[in-house]
Amino acid sequence: MSTFYHTTSCRYFPVDQNSKTAFKFISPRGRLGSEQHAPLQDMNFSYPQIVMQEIPGEITLALSISGCPLKCPGCHSAFTWDGNFGQKLNKSSLIQLLDKYEGLLSCVLFYGGEWEADTLLDLLAIVRERGMLTALFSGLESLPESITSQLDFVKLGPWKRELGGLDSAITNQRLYDLRSGECLNHHFVKKDSSVELTF
Ligand code: SF4
Repeated sequence: MSTFYHTTSCRYFPVDQNSKTAFKFISPRGRLGSEQHAPLQDMNFSYPQIVMQEIPGEITLALSISGCPLKCPGCHSAFTWDGNFGQKLNKSSLIQLLDKYEGLLSCVLFYGGEWEADTLLDLLAIVRERGMLTALFSGLESLPESITSQLDFVKLGPWKRELGGLDSAITNQRLYDLRSGECLNHHFVKKDSSVELTF
């Protein structure tokens, strides 16, 4: 079966998957306001890939996190709305992945996962402890500081078909380098490189 990839919606995926499973909402818990923490939830992930273009200038391990609650119309990865889709992602499995690609990567990108904030924060901490940069693609318009403070890059904004993704000049989505505050969208927008000839 041939595999095609797209960078529309908020993720980067093979497009030949089915979305037949029921959606399971996992409510965010956050870290603030409670002294008693429930055990961290494992998250599920799928399609680990090394990508060169999603984060400009970085060699990035991208992990698609299952269970997105946003249900953007036209989402190309609706098959991952089921939180049980894919394999378990926890500290142990992330360390295994990072060990496997030791020395090759400069960044780890999570496609989602902010709905399990405590678990995501623990995973981000592991990435940073290994000296790598962290990135999150979220369909939300904003994220709590408890998460952004642990990120080097963030993409914000839901998928809106009529506005397109980062390669669209009118997109609502924004990719930021949080170290500098720079919006990185200009790295993606298609430019008209044609030259008008005169006779
Ligand atoms: S944020 Fe929207 S486009 Fe991205 S995975 Fe969730 S539902 Fe799909």
